[in-house]
Amino acid sequence: MGFWWRPLITLSVITLIALVLWAGGGEALAFQFAAAALLAYLLRQLWQEGRLARWLEQGGDKPAPSDIGVWGDIFYRLEKLQKRQSQSQSELATALGRFQHAAEAVPDGIVILNEQDRIEWCNPASRQLLGLDAERDRGQFIHYLMRQSDFVDFLEARDFSQQLTINSPAHRDIKLLLQLVPFGAEQKLLMVRDITELERVDAMRRDFVANVSHELRTPLTVVGGFVETLNDLDKPTDADLKHYFGIMLNHTRRMQRLLDDLLTLSRLESSPNTVAEEQVHMPELMRELVREAESLSRGRHVVRLAIDSNDWLSGSLQELQSAFSNLVSNAVRYTPEGGEIALRWAVLNGQPVFSVVDTGEGIPSEHLPRLTERFYRIDRSRSRETGGTGLGLAIVKHILTRHRARLDIQSTPGKGSTFSAIFPPERLIPAQGEEQQPRLSLVK
Ligand code: ADP
Repeated sequence: MGFWWRPLITLSVITLIALVLWAGGGEALAFQFAAAALLAYLLRQLWQEGRLARWLEQGGDKPAPSDIGVWGDIFYRLEKLQKRQSQSQSELATALGRFQHAAEAVPDGIVILNEQDRIEWCNPASRQLLGLDAERDRGQFIHYLMRQSDFVDFLEARDFSQQLTINSPAHRDIKLLLQLVPFGAEQKLLMVRDITELERVDAMRRDFVANVSHELRTPLTVVGGFVETLNDLDKPTDADLKHYFGIMLNHTRRMQRLLDDLLTLSRLESSPNTVAEEQVHMPELMRELVREAESLSRGRHVVRLAIDSNDWLSGSLQELQSAFSNLVSNAVRYTPEGGEIALRWAVLNGQPVFSVVDTGEGIPSEHLPRLTERFYRIDRSRSRETGGTGLGLAIVKHILTRHRARLDIQSTPGKGSTFSAIFPPERLIPAQGEEQQPRLSLVK
């Protein structure tokens, strides 16, 4: 029940007493009593109103004045209302703070635009991606700050299904994907995503497919051409057949090598990040690599072996052998006849190092940073003539990265190159027993 009945009871009681006084003592006494009682009642009301006004002036933070009767009820209910309101206010502030923290942590840029495309709010990522400043640019028309015509058209089109790719106005080399999302009444959210990496990967994928197609097209055309020629010849001589089959075999092998390398790369990419931790007997592997170098060189180079440590290496034997063989094969292929190729296994500053030193043609320094990219070659025809696929160093780098090792290339054009695979110290397996003494052996 409400509290409206309480003043009614007070007034009824005053009236009743006044009527009794009238009956007993005459009307003057009744009026005097009624006037005094009503004045007292009025004064009490004014006093309570004053208390209420003072409490409200203080912001309602302190406990409400206590009382009995109607005013007690009013104070109690107001205090309860006040408490409920400040609680929901603090809940709202917490939720807002949480939302702001979340929006600030989002790596994508978020800009709130009003119906006139003025900036209402933006998160820190939009500062980095669009060069906006939440404080400085609040209230500014966004197209005054981002004047690219593509963007202005995109904004005016108001087509929420469209996306726009532009270069960041803050950093030209950052590519951005923009999308408008309707929000609230007439407002819009401008969502900004950095797609530089995605674009780079996509361009790499396109280049890769184009390169592979290009690499396969030449040998396929050659083989196809000779098959047609043979088909057209009435009576090919033995010499013709030998000649044509020889060329076709060469090109078929080239395709085979390319497919082998592509499969190796794909296997490396799809295998888990951890490598097999085998104990690789490096001195033995070095001797095998020397035999490989000699067989590839066919006596055209001097091959030397330097085993400066008898320690072993922890890693995948198959992968390490493939990486080292690639380096050896490159040294043989890019070193002119009469040159020297040295294979070395050593521990330098605690780090296991495998290196191949050649006295070949060397590499101009501007090519060094790109040498491990797929299909990157300095001299395309030289690489093809010697049976290269353009994937060797990409495979080497992949394998070394899997072993947390790095490839170091030192080269002087006209003098030669040194390719070193430098492994982390924890991959070193110290030699046991009689093998502890390092030996240096020279082959040839
Ligand atoms: P390729 O199959 O063409 O040899 P790689 O990825 O193994 O491909 O090597 C990339 C390029 O690096 C080669 O085309 C060549 O130009 C250069 N290169 C690699 N090793 C050497 C080396 N030892 N001396 C000179 N140039 C080299």
